[in-house]
Amino acid sequence: MGIGTQQCSEHLQVRPMPLLKRKQLMLVDNYQRQINYLRISITDMCNLRCLYCQSKPEAGWKVHQEILRYEEIIRLASLMVQSGIKRIRVTGGEPLIKKNVLMLIENMARIEGLEELTLTTNGTRLVQFARQLKENGVDRITISLDSLNNGRYADITGGGNLRDVLTGIDEALRVGFVPLKINVVVMAGINDDEVESFVRLTLDKPVVVRFIEFMPISQQGISWDKRYLSTDVLKQRLSQRFSMIPEKSIHGNGPAEYYKIDDAVGSIGFISSISKHFCDKCNRLRLTPDGHLRLCLGQDMEIDLKQPMRDGASDEELKELIFQGVRNKPSGHQFHVKRPEGRGMCAIGG
Ligand code: SAM
Repeated sequence: MGIGTQQCSEHLQVRPMPLLKRKQLMLVDNYQRQINYLRISITDMCNLRCLYCQSKPEAGWKVHQEILRYEEIIRLASLMVQSGIKRIRVTGGEPLIKKNVLMLIENMARIEGLEELTLTTNGTRLVQFARQLKENGVDRITISLDSLNNGRYADITGGGNLRDVLTGIDEALRVGFVPLKINVVVMAGINDDEVESFVRLTLDKPVVVRFIEFMPISQQGISWDKRYLSTDVLKQRLSQRFSMIPEKSIHGNGPAEYYKIDDAVGSIGFISSISKHFCDKCNRLRLTPDGHLRLCLGQDMEIDLKQPMRDGASDEELKELIFQGVRNKPSGHQFHVKRPEGRGMCAIGG
C-alpha cells in the first residue's frame, strides 16, 4: 500500500494505525524538514570526463560486485517510497550507459505510491533512448550542457561530441519531454562568456536553462577558488542584455529561481547552492551506486544500506536504518568550512 493510500485511510478514519507506525510514514529530520525526494545514482561510470565532476584518481571505479543490482535498487527505492519519498530522480555517472537501464526505469515507474520519476543525463544517448524513456514512465528529463561550442564542449567534457547532445535535446522535445531542463554549471573564464547564448536558446525552444553555481566537490581538473562565479554577478550581467521577468510558475519543486525573457518560449533559472544556499528547505536523500544513503550532498556522512541488505536485513530493519539516517541528516553543507573529500560528483549523482 502506498503512502498516499495510508494517509487517505487515516483521513477517512478507517482503522487508525498505531502512533509509532503512523510516525514512520513520513521522513522528517531533526530540523523538521520533510524528506520526500530521492536521487538514485545507478552507476559511477560516465562516458564523459567533465572537468568539475571527477572523483580523486585513487578512488577508482567501484568493482561490479560493489554496485547495487537492479533488484536491490528497486527494493530500496520501494522501501523509501513506503517511508515517504514521493519523487525519484535517476542519475549517475551517466545513467543511460548502464545496461538494461530501460528495464530498471520501467520497474521503478511501477513502484506504488511514487508520484514522479525523473532522469538526469548528459544527453549524449538521448537520440537513442528518449522515446523509450517516455514510454517507460519517465516524467521529466534534465540535461547537463556547459557549452554550445564544439571545441570547448569537447574540452570541458574530455572529448564529448556536442552534436550528440543537441540532437538528443531535439529528440527529447519531439517525444514530449516539454519543458526540458538544461543545467549549465557556470565557471569563470571557462564558459561564462556563453551565458547569453544559453539564454537565447530559450527564445524559441521550450527549454528551461538553469545556471548552477559551481560547487567545490572533489573536482580534479579545475580550481573552484578560481572558477566560482556567483548568481548575483551573473544576473547583473544578464540584466544588462535582457529584460528578465520573474516567473511565478515553478518548474518542479526544486530550489531554482525562475525568470522569463520577454516573448521567450522557455525560461531561465538560477540555482545558487553556494551564495544563497537552500539547505533549510532541503528535502532530499541520495542513494549512491554502491548502496550508501548520502544524507547531504556537501558532506561525506553516509549510511551503508547495501551490506545489511546483503546480510539479510528485513524490510523493517532497512527502513529503520533509513529513518536513522534521516534523523542524522546534517543541517546543511559546510562548503565554506570543510569541503567533502570523499566521492566526486560523478559518484554521487549531483
Ligand atoms: N551524467 C549525468 C549528467 O551529466 O547530468 C548525471 C550525473 S551529473 C554528476 C549530475 C549533475 O551534477 C550535472 O548536471 C552536473 O553538471 C552537476 N555537477 C557535477 N559536478 C558539479 C559541481 N562541482 N558543481 C555543480 N554541479 C555539478
